[in-house]
Amino acid sequence: MLTLSLLLSALLPQVLGCADHSNYHAPLHSKRQAINASDTLRIPTFWQYDNSQDWGKISPNYTLCQTGTQQSPIALLFNQGLSQAHRPYFTGYTANSTGKYYNWGYGPAFTFYHDEGVYDTLPSMQMDNETLYMTGWHVHAPADHTVGGDRSKAELHYVHYDATGRERAVIAIRLDPGQDDSPFFAQFPSPPIHFNDTSSIENMAIDPLQAIREVADFSNFWTYQGSLTSPPCKEGIRWFVARNILFTSVKQMQDLLGASTFSARAEQEVWLHQVNV
Ligand SMILES: [Zn+2]
Repeated sequence: MLTLSLLLSALLPQVLGCADHSNYHAPLHSKRQAINASDTLRIPTFWQYDNSQDWGKISPNYTLCQTGTQQSPIALLFNQGLSQAHRPYFTGYTANSTGKYYNWGYGPAFTFYHDEGVYDTLPSMQMDNETLYMTGWHVHAPADHTVGGDRSKAELHYVHYDATGRERAVIAIRLDPGQDDSPFFAQFPSPPIHFNDTSSIENMAIDPLQAIREVADFSNFWTYQGSLTSPPCKEGIRWFVARNILFTSVKQMQDLLGASTFSARAEQEVWLHQVNV
């Protein structure tokens, strides 16, 4: 039986979280242009972040959220050490890559332009002798991953697909307030587009390598086998979480948080994740 909250949530503009957005169609909206199905995270859904423990009950399609063996996010620990395995190389992160800036319904987001089904024009990285393509980024607030019990104020996800159009890897960077402006976030308008605002800014050219530079070139990281952090919780995603935190200014962080709403899935038990293996 549908609960009242489910009925209400069906009527609200919810979005598909994290990475899996390849099979969905954007809702029509009178104030914004139609968006290519592969270019948006914003779709109506039944699930909500504040009851992520119950996602497995909502739909038979979400069973993996309850039964999966490599679910994300997980708590990371300093005594796990850092990884040398599967090191990503950001050789194809070209500056002036163009796309659109928007809000995925939970926080700022960006999608690079590419023709449907064509990935090799996107910024790319090398991992285990495979080329993976970055379709875009989005921000979660607070962070999905804790480290040593600490949760950062937000987390940046760089989503990567393989050449066949399958989600394969996420580069995760924790975000916290520090002293100076982050040059990465300084590339985007201030304040960011609000989570209730469905507009977008088209034809923005950005440098995806900038966030990598701001975490010591991603030289230290944890890696594990995980999943999407939203339904259907599909597995087979390799996660990389940077050891370094990307620091924004206080103003930038307040702007980011002001444009975001709660979007962290409850941490999952470590099972077959092969952390740093
Ligand atoms: Zn995400």
